[in-house]
Amino acid sequence: MHEMAIAEGILNIAFDYAQQNNSSKINRITLQIGEMSGVEIEALNMSFEVLTKDTIAEGAELVVNHIPIVGVCNKCGKEFHIEHYNFFCPECDGILILKSGRELQVESLDME
Ligand SMILES: [Zn+2]
Repeated sequence: MHEMAIAEGILNIAFDYAQQNNSSKINRITLQIGEMSGVEIEALNMSFEVLTKDTIAEGAELVVNHIPIVGVCNKCGKEFHIEHYNFFCPECDGILILKSGRELQVESLDME
């Protein structure tokens, strides 16, 4: 499962950070996940629960901030929210260049 590997990566970052800060408990992990990252939040939550069992992150809250897919037109320079994977500018015949929406990163960690 794709999400299991993602959860593992996130937790590795969190555990490293906790160790560097002599923290003994992770309370909350906030993530930035782009609409286009293809991550299933439910599967991610499940993986997270399995992987945090008996660790300092057990019971930690997983907060997900969804980042919309935004493209910038290569002709008129305007920004648009991309829907249905339509990468053509609605106002001219330009092409929308992806600006955000692929994020998959830890935004913040709350620990004791
Ligand atoms: Zn345009």
